[in-house]
Amino acid sequence: MCYVEINHNMNHKNIAIFILFLSFFNSFAQTYKPLDTADYSLRKDFLKTAKDKNNILIKGLKNKYQGKVGNKLEKYYNEFFTEFEKDVKNKDYTFKSEFDKNVDDIITELKKNNSQIPQNLKVLIAKDNMPNAFCLPDGTFIINMGLFNWLDNKDQVASVICHEIAHNILEHSLKLLVEQIEENATDKTTVENLKSVTVNKSGTAFDIFKNRIYKKGVEKRQQEVKADSLGFVLFKNSGFKKIEFLNALNNLKNFDSISPREIKIETYKSLFDIPNHPFKEKWMKTEDFSLYNYDFYKEKLDKDSLASHPEISRRIQTLQKKFTELNVSEDALKPDENFQNLQKIARMEILPNLFHSEDYGLGIYVSMQFLQDKEDEEYYKMWLGRLFDKIYDARKNYNLNRYLDRVEPKNQSKSYQQFLNFMWNLSIDDIKNIADFYSKKGTS
Ligand SMILES: [Zn+2]
Repeated sequence: MCYVEINHNMNHKNIAIFILFLSFFNSFAQTYKPLDTADYSLRKDFLKTAKDKNNILIKGLKNKYQGKVGNKLEKYYNEFFTEFEKDVKNKDYTFKSEFDKNVDDIITELKKNNSQIPQNLKVLIAKDNMPNAFCLPDGTFIINMGLFNWLDNKDQVASVICHEIAHNILEHSLKLLVEQIEENATDKTTVENLKSVTVNKSGTAFDIFKNRIYKKGVEKRQQEVKADSLGFVLFKNSGFKKIEFLNALNNLKNFDSISPREIKIETYKSLFDIPNHPFKEKWMKTEDFSLYNYDFYKEKLDKDSLASHPEISRRIQTLQKKFTELNVSEDALKPDENFQNLQKIARMEILPNLFHSEDYGLGIYVSMQFLQDKEDEEYYKMWLGRLFDKIYDARKNYNLNRYLDRVEPKNQSKSYQQFLNFMWNLSIDDIKNIADFYSKKGTS
């Protein structure tokens, strides 16, 4: 179960463009080294424990649910683990990062005054820029790194964790799953037939899970309300600042209403006018923009936002009705130094995360946004080099389509379409020159 429900059309490709632009993160890059996820032994140990945990869980479920339901659950939890194992092996999660340490501290604090929190709780930090958190069916919690770009302080992270713990305590995902199995028992549409989901390369095991049980809108909404209520009780038992529970939700409500940033033509000219390979005006030629209609795009954005906005507003109202102490509005606490450090890391990891999920085209677009703002220029120029190297390989191997979107006038902002036109206009020689220049392989 997740923290906020984000419309499926609003995939992380769109989301990554909605980066908050702040001006106070300066001179961090000189010393910044992207997180190392190569810790093989930690991952191996984790998977071993997770597999045992999953097997114990299955055994318990088979005792509780006999016959067909038990068998289906076993099949489902085994499939889930296979997917999850793939994600872990693919290094989709960090182990032993600053994030892990801080999250572990929060959980220790929460456990002190809440005996109902499971003892063997495990939280993983995902290399994902989307601000969200999940509770996997086996009780493992996933916190996306992107969340740290949208929350203000440690208390807000604690509030998100509390919401997820509540889902777990209330066995929400299991309940939905059992109901679905029982309802489908009469026809052939059983759980395994619900696989009609297209999971992208960077999709997590949770995507599959989510798609399988998300048919139940009303019930899911009720579960969210229950997770908020119990979550808030856990939260306030632990002495975190109460209002931050609402502030966190409010932050997430804002996140998809920020309009995509525009990349100016001058930015292209300044970044791609390189020695011995001058900028060419023809690179900026666009396919016919007459198909482009801002109202249409706006409508799409609104529709994508609809799924989460009223939903979050409703959740806030429900919380305020139930807990009168939440009927105040107060600014978020200033982050302590520790949390500021996590915010910086999350920001610096935006590009490594896009690189990890092989979103090379989008990575270039995002790097250009940072460079347009003159933020940590050396760092983002380094990423331009690495990304253009990948684009060059893809172009050489005729599979650029995998890493660079096609222009879709109805689904993309004008600025993103301009970017895509630019990228597709580049010749293989142009790409090579840019790649070499930014990865400092050229003579210049
Ligand atoms: Zn939830």
